[in-house]
Amino acid sequence: MRRITILGATGSIGQSTIDLIKRRPDDFDVVALTGGCNAKQLAADAIALRAEIAVLDSADCYGELKDLLSGTGIEVACGAQAIADAARRPADWIMSAIVGAAGLPPGMAALEQGSTLALANKESLVTAGPLLMATAARYGARILPVDSEHSAVFQALVGEPMDAVERVIITASGGAFRDWPLEQLKTATVAQASAHPNWDMGQRITIDSASMFNKALELIETKEYFGISPDKIEAIVHPESLVHALVGFNDGALMAHVGPPDMRHAIGYALNWPDRSHLPVARLDLAAIGALTFRAADEVRWPALRMAREVMSAGGKTGAVFNAAKERALDAFIAGQVGFMDMPVAVAETLAKMSAHSGLQNAPISLEEVMETDRLSRICADAALAKLG
Ligand code: NAD
Ligand code: MG
Repeated sequence: MRRITILGATGSIGQSTIDLIKRRPDDFDVVALTGGCNAKQLAADAIALRAEIAVLDSADCYGELKDLLSGTGIEVACGAQAIADAARRPADWIMSAIVGAAGLPPGMAALEQGSTLALANKESLVTAGPLLMATAARYGARILPVDSEHSAVFQALVGEPMDAVERVIITASGGAFRDWPLEQLKTATVAQASAHPNWDMGQRITIDSASMFNKALELIETKEYFGISPDKIEAIVHPESLVHALVGFNDGALMAHVGPPDMRHAIGYALNWPDRSHLPVARLDLAAIGALTFRAADEVRWPALRMAREVMSAGGKTGAVFNAAKERALDAFIAGQVGFMDMPVAVAETLAKMSAHSGLQNAPISLEEVMETDRLSRICADAALAKLG
């Protein structure tokens, strides 16, 4: 029996992880499940999976969770600290699927007890890549990528020498607006940005796909996780979302990972690693698909991609600034305070203002330092957003 914890269990990745675990009840012991505010879902899953503890972030929903789980013997708790404490409970495999920088502290806590961290929360690598990787090394913990592109790269690299890697190409669907006229993007609504052509995901990452902030985060994630230099990392638009990434080697070969757009593949690969086991994902009928198409990723349409290059070359804590500003811009867009194309403007302004901040060029050495950069960047981003709104 492997002991498993799922951080962000009530979300899209969390629910896909639970789907896989429920199919193999004899293989896993569930330690902790955490969620934001959805007490009903969390309680139902905690009971079905016989979890030791269920933790919510929001105090508003804590009473409901306590009522739903009373008499079951399942412990309950709430708050960010309780989530980090849950991640500290001994477990073999911990899914990090909270959305946003809020996923960083519990992810760090999981690494500090030597667990394998299945990392969907790309924001932790973007905000604190060097710190996260150093913490894993120090405590003998392992990080397995769950983002589909990074799982694809990871799989293409099995048995390959890193010094033979010439380039890594990650694909992007192009999101909801890939075929819209550029002029029209200013008018895009939250509902329109929340409709992804291929993937069924949480709302925030879906909107980030339309703006390509998601791909920007993923370019940075590629640099941080694989230690590949930024000039070897490319993004390409691939509307079918069937090729998830390609690795180019020094003999000219490109190894592509091809599969259906179903996160249960990447989650299942991390769950079964280093083995492979049967997974309940669709099998592709290539003759029926017929063609796979690719187009250049346009940095005018998607300024986030250009900013990702700046962030990668600046290094230090610039990723924390970029992610925090992006999170606030997304909050403001969802709240109807700014337009779709105001988001990159606010993020660019925050990057420019924060670049003067002392010590930003130095890699983070502690969680506190990262959280402080995150906090200051949010204030700076809010000021930029207020001018635009
Ligand atoms: P989601 O919004 O569906 O779920 C997020 C989970 O985190 C929920 O359980 C939510 O309650 C919880 N949460 C939100 N804010 C929290 C906070 N402040 N403290 C504690 N818990 C909080 O998001 P998702 O689509 O499942 O994405 C989760 C992570 O995985 C993100 O980092 C995303 O970028 C990444 N990811 C998602 C997909 C996908 O297909 N959904 C693919 C690749 C990577
Ligand atoms: Mg991805």
